[in-house]
Amino acid sequence: MYITQVGAECAPVAKVGGLGDVIHGLSRELTRQGHQVEVILPKYDCLRLELVEDRQRVCEELRVPFYDQWLPCRVESGTLDGIRCCFIDPDSDHGFFRRGRIYGEVDDPGRFAFFSRAVLEFLLKTGRQPDIIHCHDWHTALLSVLRWEVYEALGLDRPRVCHTLHNPAYQGIAGEYPLRAAGLDPARLMTRARLLDQDNPHAVNLLKGAIVYANAVTTVSPRHAWELLHTEQGLGLQETLHIHGHKFHGVLNGIDEDTWSPRTDPHIVHSYGPENLPGKARNKRHLRRRLGLAEAAKPIVAIVSRLDRQKGVELMGHAIHYALGNGCQTVLLGSASEPWIEELFQKIARQTEGNTDCHLALRHDEELSHQIHAGADILVVPSLYEPCGLTQMIAMRYGVVPVVRRVGGLVDSVFDANYADKAFEEVTGFLFDDPTPEGLESALGRAIRLWFHYPEYFRQLRLNGMHTDNSWAEPAQHYLDIFEAIKA
Ligand code: ADP
Repeated sequence: MYITQVGAECAPVAKVGGLGDVIHGLSRELTRQGHQVEVILPKYDCLRLELVEDRQRVCEELRVPFYDQWLPCRVESGTLDGIRCCFIDPDSDHGFFRRGRIYGEVDDPGRFAFFSRAVLEFLLKTGRQPDIIHCHDWHTALLSVLRWEVYEALGLDRPRVCHTLHNPAYQGIAGEYPLRAAGLDPARLMTRARLLDQDNPHAVNLLKGAIVYANAVTTVSPRHAWELLHTEQGLGLQETLHIHGHKFHGVLNGIDEDTWSPRTDPHIVHSYGPENLPGKARNKRHLRRRLGLAEAAKPIVAIVSRLDRQKGVELMGHAIHYALGNGCQTVLLGSASEPWIEELFQKIARQTEGNTDCHLALRHDEELSHQIHAGADILVVPSLYEPCGLTQMIAMRYGVVPVVRRVGGLVDSVFDANYADKAFEEVTGFLFDDPTPEGLESALGRAIRLWFHYPEYFRQLRLNGMHTDNSWAEPAQHYLDIFEAIKA
């Protein structure tokens, strides 16, 4: 099948969070299976182009409508970890992708509306007719709308669109300007059945447009699909998702097993696998030396996360104090999304200054994230909501036992050591329900006690996680079944 992936991120050249991992991992698996896959990204100035091989120009003369102008673009192609990629590079005063970062600009709806239109224009002008265009999150939501409202008539009539919701808390709610910018008619589209936001009669909801216009809509775990339809986590999209429920699916993400393999990981100091857990103990010693932690018979409780309200930052703070108070060491790696969150963790850093059982690294650090997974014993993921979550899967692969909140994809990927209705070899961690300190303690306490008092059982949990198949093989097949069902 010929599949074009379109999104705002692709690891490792442009990664902010899990979205980048998913586009990379899924594209790699589909390519490996022999499908023709092409990832199309904006050519950000912060793109790590040094990782892209065989770069060449594929289109010199692309002109893309933006309001009443036609903006010239260059398109370059190249290969990233065996995946074919194209990078769209507009040459205009707007400097859409020359902002030194991927997101967070006031004109994000306009920038990504332009990108969505540019992708379709590129496919049309170069005669590409993929079977499937797979779009991700609100940034590329207008692509589905444009595909049917504009490009069907222009001759780009083969591709069917699958749209994946990775984080529906971000819906691309704006005035009508992104529609005008992309050459769409607001009067026609801003209706309740189409793109009008359900809560604001003057706003357009781009993600809603993708749900209405795409041939298939997915989210990143079966549990989150249910939550979007039946709980307040649908954040206003419930009605639209119910109307279009026949084409809505939950597909659990995988992780790229080459990127996340303790046997081959170039970022860690000692390679290991389930048959060689002493190798993990050597990584733990290295992590302690690197972070200035004492050598002691204590478990390392880790957090690796964006520090965002969604991720349960207050519960993270509680987890640090609780773990320290119960004889553990703690390590946190994370970058804050808001000043009050940065301050929350700066305060904990000040409180624990000089404590050789605690280290907080308030930044994004790819290498350290790998080393933490290699050295830690327990990973805490106390999310308030979590469409899928990848860190818990990465943790399990590295023999770290996850302690997670019973929400979203965490429910589909971690099975409770005491309460899951599963065979012993299939249980992998600890879950809690209430997003409260007591709730957290009910699971973290069990994990810590197990480490201290039943080390053999704890070791078995590590091994269960390491043997769990969270590769992309099964999710990729699930996506292919969906693609097959909608393809022309
Ligand atoms: P989200 O996409 O909501 O951020 P996920 O768990 O799906 O959450 O994916 C997070 C990804 O980003 C994982 O690969 C995780 O290891 C990585 N990550 C998060 N914070 C950091 C950080 N501060 N430094 C390095 N990697 C990080």
